Amino acid sequence: MAVQKMATASLKRYELPPLPYAPDALEPYISKEQLSLHHDKHHQAYVTGANANLEKLEKARQEGAEIDMKALLKELSFNIGGHVLHTLFWPTMAPAGKGGGGAPKGALADRIEQEWGSFDRFKAEFTKTAASVEGSGWAALAYDSMTARPVIMQIEKHNNNVYPSLKILMVLDVWEHAYYVDYKNNRGQFIDAFWNVVNWDAVNKRLENL
Ligand code: MN
Repeated sequence: MAVQKMATASLKRYELPPLPYAPDALEPYISKEQLSLHHDKHHQAYVTGANANLEKLEKARQEGAEIDMKALLKELSFNIGGHVLHTLFWPTMAPAGKGGGGAPKGALADRIEQEWGSFDRFKAEFTKTAASVEGSGWAALAYDSMTARPVIMQIEKHNNNVYPSLKILMVLDVWEHAYYVDYKNNRGQFIDAFWNVVNWDAVNKRLENL
């Protein structure tokens, strides 16, 4: 028992990463209040939730207790999904005019041109993907190494409709908690605003570093 407890104490936990810019850096497109709430409260909740799920597993193992695996793993999938996607989301953005906005660069620009014919066509499909998420979810651009092609993914909640193991290059959070302070129920306005703060350099680096 003592050995198991020592091992548990040294296990790593999930941690909330700091925002890569000041909380007011994305204004006027995303306000300081909106961004702070989103990062400090909502993202934190997934980190806390995932750690609580892990602790529940560890405790049950130490006690030799039964675990409702189906229920617990469903929660863990949701919380890890939330943490991973938010961790990708913050550096997907940068202040407008200072790394944020404009058009894709480098290899990413070439891949988008090759796959969609034009940046405008990609932008329209990605926008529609985000706008049509049923309830809470995300639009994502991923890269499929099996076909060497980029592909759009529409994620429900944080973990449904995910293409397993595909590398995610960019994400847009369209949960209401991502925009309600600034745009109330108008998700479309938030999506339009998002294009002004996309950090194309960061998205391109994710592709180039595959
Ligand atoms: Mn969110």
